[in-house]
Amino acid sequence: MSTPSNSGFSVDINALRESLFDSKAGRVLLKQIEKLAVGLTAPVTLMEVCGTHTHAIAAAGLRRLMPEKVRLVSGPGCPVCVTPIGWVDHAVALAALPDVIVTTFGDLMRVPSSTGTLEEARAGGSDIRICYSTRDALQIARDNPERRVIFLAVGFETTAPTIAGALAEAEKEGLPNFMILPGNKTMPGPLRVLVDDETVDLNGLLCPGHVSVIIGSDAYQQIAAAGVPCAVVGFAPNDVLTGVIDLLEQILGEKSVVTNLYKRVVKPGGNPAALQLLDHFFETTDADWRGLGPIADSGLKLRPAYAHRDASLIDVDLPIPQEPKGCRCGEVLRGTINPPDCPLFGKGCDPQHAVGACMVSSEGTCAAWYRHERLVTT
Ligand code: SF4
Repeated sequence: MSTPSNSGFSVDINALRESLFDSKAGRVLLKQIEKLAVGLTAPVTLMEVCGTHTHAIAAAGLRRLMPEKVRLVSGPGCPVCVTPIGWVDHAVALAALPDVIVTTFGDLMRVPSSTGTLEEARAGGSDIRICYSTRDALQIARDNPERRVIFLAVGFETTAPTIAGALAEAEKEGLPNFMILPGNKTMPGPLRVLVDDETVDLNGLLCPGHVSVIIGSDAYQQIAAAGVPCAVVGFAPNDVLTGVIDLLEQILGEKSVVTNLYKRVVKPGGNPAALQLLDHFFETTDADWRGLGPIADSGLKLRPAYAHRDASLIDVDLPIPQEPKGCRCGEVLRGTINPPDCPLFGKGCDPQHAVGACMVSSEGTCAAWYRHERLVTT
């Protein structure tokens, strides 16, 4: 059986099933999903909200293996993708200051700003250095006492504690030149927005595994109470399939609760030590999300006691934010379109020549579809 895909290629579903699910357990889970789907009276949309899930699902071809009535879509789970263009403008402007070294994880380098990427800014003379951990950024600050070293703080609750850890180390050491540009975002605020948005089809959530380690499975209780079943799952294909089964069972049983299927690492209350560290340095603030707009209490800003480490307070001229022309990242991040529905997908926008952030980041939905879901018929 050959099925046309949205990307213009076609897929031999049976061959895919054979190649991807040579494990007995995987086949059993798939059969169970098919059986449950028969009982559905209408198609359902289940959203995963973690960039790592997006890639795990794409790499295993799970989306295409779902029965017709079960649609898997990606949500706002890639931190670089949801970072608004104005924030990237700010990073580029700071990097242009002669006494500044900007330090960043590599996936931000090629994200477009209104005036170009950080990679282009570096080629133009800005001192921008890629780090593999916040400790690298601290070391650069120690090695360059006459310069301000600014770490670009992007990421959800998974990354934020490591940034708080670096701040703690800088404070302890009395390292005056280490700063951050605050841009961390928090869950589950955007999920609540999606649940309330009538233009978004959403019947169940595969909750982010890594973030849940920090915030705990109880963080989704409000969403479940609003009528959207939630399942916290791990990252192996069979973990995801088990989550799909749980959500379908909840939908069919007209239940809406939070099921924690990742109990080996996720506790109901999360990680208290990490939460305490975050709370020491940061307070919640309203934050702007690409595709979702401003969301109350969904970002982290430095507490006033740490204003001396806040690079957002440095005075720089900023351009009026300009989104890349034709890019539909906003809709991709809300799960209202799939990447191939963007006219630029694979036609002007690919991982080597990314137009939007969703194609740049290794966790981006467009990048995942481009790498894993453009399959050729066998
Ligand atoms: S394919 Fe490229 S241009 Fe289209 S939404 Fe994705 S990142 Fe944006």
